[in-house]
Amino acid sequence: MQTIKAYLTLSATPFRESENEVIIPCFFGDCGDKSKGNEGYLHLNTATGQFSCEKCDVSGSLINLAKNLLVECLEIYDASCRDDGNEIIADCLFDSCYRNKNGRGRLSFNVEKGQYECAKCGAKGNLITFMKFLETL
Ligand SMILES: [Zn+2]
Ligand SMILES: [Zn+2]
Repeated sequence: MQTIKAYLTLSATPFRESENEVIIPCFFGDCGDKSKGNEGYLHLNTATGQFSCEKCDVSGSLINLAKNLLVECLEIYDASCRDDGNEIIADCLFDSCYRNKNGRGRLSFNVEKGQYECAKCGAKGNLITFMKFLETL
C-alpha cells in the first residue's frame, strides 16, 4: 500500500482511498477522457494485488501498473529506461554519475520493494528518498 501510493505520488497521479482500495482515474485508451462523474476509475485492490477498471474492463497486476507509473515518471526526466522483468533499469540521474565523462551508471529499481540502487555511484534508497531527490532537479 505504501509502495503503490509512493508510485502514484511520484508520477503525480491523483488518487483517493477507500477500505482496501486506492482509486485513480483510468488512463487506458481514451477511457478517462470519455468518462463522466464516477465512471472510468481504476480500482487498485491492495489486498489482492490486482487492479481493474469498472468501465473499460482493463485489469492486471499492481506490479505492472507500478512499472508503468515509474517509467512514465523517469521519462519526464529524460532518463531512458527498460523493463528487465523484476526491475526497471534507467539512466542514473544522480549528479556524480550524470557528469561522469566515462559514462553514466544505471539505476535499477526493485519495483516490488520500491528500492533503487546504482552500482556505479553507489546511490541507493527507497522511493521516498528518490522523490525528494527528483524535487531538487
Ligand atoms: Zn478504464
Ligand atoms: Zn549513479
